[in-house]
Amino acid sequence: DQQANSTSSAINVVRKKLAGYVGFANLPNQVHRKSVKKGFQFTCMVVGESGLGKSTLVNTLFNTGLYPPKENVEPTHETPQTVEIQSITADIEENGVKLRLTVVDSPGFGDFVNNEQSWKPILDSIESRFDAYLEQENRVNRRRMVDNRIHACLYFIAPTGHALKPLDIEFMRRLHTRVNLIPVIAKADTLTEEEVYAFKQRILADINYHKIQIYQAPAYEYDDQETIEENREIMSKIPFAVVGSDKQFEVNGKQVRGRKYPWGVIEVDNEEHCDFVKLRQMLIRTHMEELKEYTNDVLYENYRTEKLTAMGIQQDPTVFKEVNPVQKMEEERVAHEQKLAKMEAEMRAVFQAKVQEKESKLKHSEEELYARHKQMKEALDKQRLDLEEKRRRLESGRPITPEKSAKKRGFTFNK
Ligand code: GDP
Repeated sequence: DQQANSTSSAINVVRKKLAGYVGFANLPNQVHRKSVKKGFQFTCMVVGESGLGKSTLVNTLFNTGLYPPKENVEPTHETPQTVEIQSITADIEENGVKLRLTVVDSPGFGDFVNNEQSWKPILDSIESRFDAYLEQENRVNRRRMVDNRIHACLYFIAPTGHALKPLDIEFMRRLHTRVNLIPVIAKADTLTEEEVYAFKQRILADINYHKIQIYQAPAYEYDDQETIEENREIMSKIPFAVVGSDKQFEVNGKQVRGRKYPWGVIEVDNEEHCDFVKLRQMLIRTHMEELKEYTNDVLYENYRTEKLTAMGIQQDPTVFKEVNPVQKMEEERVAHEQKLAKMEAEMRAVFQAKVQEKESKLKHSEEELYARHKQMKEALDKQRLDLEEKRRRLESGRPITPEKSAKKRGFTFNK
């Protein structure tokens, strides 16, 4: 249950013991000592078809069983239809130096009949991590920033010995401006030394031809000769031909990590056998901070500029004017409040009109009632007056005879 969706904020952290020396104890030499107290944090992505040895290599790199062996994983019978993004985070420690390592995997990549869009969920994940960081930067309180950005992407090339596949080219073309791409030739032990050499040349030619930008360690003026030489050597090995293994064998009385063949053992940690050591050196011992810096200063910064420009925020290249995110948010908040106030006023007007209409209806029926009441009252009053008149006459003793009455009305009687 160590796997959690990369975008979810809750990260499952597992504690892992190291089986041997890895190299991040050297990290304090790369940055200021203050970071030692806080601990280091690194997020690495691995991409490649399943079975290319990604999990094995990650375990070999960090000398820890970060990925459980495949034999212990329940086989699933349903074939997933999309590329998933999964991440595993582990707190590891070496000589008192803490490293929070996150490995982001993309199971399903390149495994379908149609892999045209395989790169898309991966790019989306990388960009959504940039978005999450940008959102935090825009907050008023920026003290507790969570950085889930991908600092490096190991791209596993199948050891075909031919050329890059269209899928490889498409992936790298789509991703190279967003992440530090580090191409590796997977399972290099399946190729001969000559094959590896020719394959590397071909891959680099393809990368050049398609103008793909892979990670290049920057050279600094203040670098000493030794560092320059070390960098040059590391860079000359790209794409790293790697071998991963979680097994140890005895060679000349020493235990070594490697893969056993009938003719001998291919040693993971032997620079004569593969480039694993150089990859680890770059990723962990010498360039981890560099990769993080490049991610922040160049890749993220470019993304941020593109995003803000798309949002209509222009930066004048001649007069560099910093977009003030706090001010922008404040403006957005004011606009939102104005909109709410307008809606409220409109609703109130509608309500008042309705109330008025009801009131005038009520008033009208009240008037009607009153008029009817008045009519009835008048009729009754008249009846009462008539009756009173009759009574008065009766009481005054002048009964009205039928003749008198008839006479009164103008009739004459013949007697
Ligand atoms: P993933 O699917 O890319 O994570 O691949 P795994 O790490 O699970 O490895 C798939 C299979 O390839 C396993 O049987 C590994 O033992 C084997 N494997 C891993 N790395 C190497 C390697 O460098 N060389 C060879 N020959 N086999 C390897």
